[in-house]
Amino acid sequence: MVRIQKLSSLLSNQIAAGEVIERPASVVKELIENSLDAGATQIDIEIEQGGMRLIRIRDNGSGIHKDDLQLALNRHATSKIYDLDDLEKIMTLGFRGEALASISSVSRLHLASALDSTPGWAITSNGTDSEPQIAPSSHPKGTTVEVRDLFFNTPARRKFLRTEKTEFEHIDEVVKRIALSCFHVNFTLKHNQRLIKQYRPANSDIECEQRVASLCGADFTEHALKIETEIEGIKLLGWIGLPTFSRAQADLQYFYVNGRIVRDKLVSHAVRQAYHDVMYGGRHCAYVLFLTIVPQQVDVNVHPTKHEVRFRESRLVHDFICRAVQDALAHVRPGHHEVCAPTEMTFNHQHEVHKKELVHEHATQAVQYSKPVIHRQNPMPFKVNEQMAVYNQLHQPDTAPTPKSPPLGFALAQLQGVYILSENDEGLILVDMHAAHERVMYEQLKKNMQQGIASQPLLIPISVTLTEREANIIENTPELFTKVGLKVERIGQESIVVREVPELLRDSNIVQMIRDMAADLIVEQQSVRIEEHIQHILATMACHAAVRANRRLTIPEMNALLRTMEDTDHSGQCNHGRPTWMKLSMEELDKLFLRGR
Ligand code: ADP
Ligand code: MG
Repeated sequence: MVRIQKLSSLLSNQIAAGEVIERPASVVKELIENSLDAGATQIDIEIEQGGMRLIRIRDNGSGIHKDDLQLALNRHATSKIYDLDDLEKIMTLGFRGEALASISSVSRLHLASALDSTPGWAITSNGTDSEPQIAPSSHPKGTTVEVRDLFFNTPARRKFLRTEKTEFEHIDEVVKRIALSCFHVNFTLKHNQRLIKQYRPANSDIECEQRVASLCGADFTEHALKIETEIEGIKLLGWIGLPTFSRAQADLQYFYVNGRIVRDKLVSHAVRQAYHDVMYGGRHCAYVLFLTIVPQQVDVNVHPTKHEVRFRESRLVHDFICRAVQDALAHVRPGHHEVCAPTEMTFNHQHEVHKKELVHEHATQAVQYSKPVIHRQNPMPFKVNEQMAVYNQLHQPDTAPTPKSPPLGFALAQLQGVYILSENDEGLILVDMHAAHERVMYEQLKKNMQQGIASQPLLIPISVTLTEREANIIENTPELFTKVGLKVERIGQESIVVREVPELLRDSNIVQMIRDMAADLIVEQQSVRIEEHIQHILATMACHAAVRANRRLTIPEMNALLRTMEDTDHSGQCNHGRPTWMKLSMEELDKLFLRGR
């Protein structure tokens, strides 16, 4: 008979390491997080051979007390929480007290640390069961952790390591993700003694934007909208890429909850849903977003690597994120989305964010979008025409110093029956007539639809057989169905009947849609399938109704379309996510013609 025995602490730490320490990059993540939790503002990362030979992280944080050094390497020992209450309001990146124990069980670890002005101490552990050694060390205030020969004593793990280059790429990505959220911290990253990256602290909005540009590419910040929305203690800020800046992969999507990067299904669903209407199928949006929420509202103790979180009020958070992104995108109209001008946005490290009590009393909603900045000083050789004067009278009643043309200017001509050519203060505007009209029609149809979806009673009601769980969930969320003009009723343990459907869905496969909605509800606690389907039908209608190529438009007709575009949400891109208009500024034209000035 096999008897039970207690595992040695080394072995149980090695088992724990299996969960959190997958590769050198995981060590780097854990150690940087410790430095951040210790309040460091300078973090130097040195890597040798992709981190397989050495990972050294030095910080200027609070340091560790000599008497705590042994404990720091012990499993289930932490300075970050004391009781269950604390677990429910985590403000630090760590709290499980596992990282150092895990790392030291699969490597040779040396940790040197000093508190303010006191002499430093170091602890060395060699990945065996023997007691770690403590000795004096001349370390300045802060902590340095050196991890050598990772997985030297766990050959099975070592086999999974890739090349030095690949492992370093993972480390680079980890540092990037952290640098993207801790704007005030100076990071340096060296590989094999060569300085690879340096992220200088960013204190102003412009510096923050520069850091984002250096991490995510200037192309992103140039084609991004800034978001800052706060409502009832939940705050979302950051940058979202314009729909026309879509990507083939979901590789530029960074979402932080209280300073912690997460890969959360609810969150990515909320953002994807917000883009649904403006993004062509199969393309991915780009974003860097920071959600701040009172810590009691979010459970970070869901997974050892803490990549997932659970929101107490998941529906509310989902809808808040979706709405905030949707609102920002709706303002993508001509004249509204040009340059990311810095707004009153400030980034705080998570610790500072939490120190400020989050407002709960009443809904304070502040939404900011970047406004275009136009620097060109009346560069146009043309006279302001009469039409422009009329427009200005209507749109700028206060005494504007120089009359401005509307964002899309005034029509000059139609090119080959496809494009409208128009002129504004800055230069030439080109509009894809059909694409623009299609979007305008589509937005109008959607607006009409919001006033109420007309439903039609069915002559012969449709019954749908489902599982009991699916039937329950449908019965319990009637508002989801009435909202889209469906009248459903439970008629048996495993069946429901559909009595009314919206006119628009007459020709759709209702049974399939009900089944899919039930599945959505079970997996995602929500379903926007019908809305998306209706939108799809409206988009098709808009496409048929929009002006076709080769239709001659008169100048007043063209101007009418331009003015409507300026007033229409989402009019910057067509229903397939392509741009509806382009601008060729005088600068750009001058460049084309090699015209010096
Ligand atoms: P956790 O971060 O979950 O508390 P760790 O094993 O990562 O667990 O670290 C254990 C403890 O060691 C921390 O709670 C902290 O008190 C201390 N510590 C670790 N790294 C540092 C550091 N760089 N600076 C100051 N204290 C540190
Ligand atoms: Mg930690």
